[in-house]
Amino acid sequence: MIGQGATTAEHTHCHRCGRTLRSAVSCTRKYGSRCWAIVRKAARGLNDMLAVFTRRQVDQAVELIEDAAIVRADQADVFYVVSSDGTEIYRSSLESCDCPASKECYHQAAILIVTGKAA
Ligand SMILES: [Zn+2]
Ligand SMILES: [Zn+2]
Repeated sequence: MIGQGATTAEHTHCHRCGRTLRSAVSCTRKYGSRCWAIVRKAARGLNDMLAVFTRRQVDQAVELIEDAAIVRADQADVFYVVSSDGTEIYRSSLESCDCPASKECYHQAAILIVTGKAA
């Protein structure tokens, strides 16, 4: 059992901005509170950038983020995303995505949310 205020030995970094996370809540969800607010706001479809995606794609994108299945690569705005069955990793950016679902790609919706460009 981990009590409140307990510190973890491992450092977790925010999957959105890379900041070191200290609170147990933030570490569990992999996002700092500010970034999480942006993710949640985007998830509620409050912005125009996500309008090109279907509600289902946005839901899938948020799921991807919540599962921490999207990780920023070394290059700016390039991400690695884990396929839905967890067996493959695709390289994804706003310009292109390696995944086979070129038309139904929700990875780019996830990138928009993660990078805050949708906020
Ligand atoms: Zn952050
Ligand atoms: Zn994709």
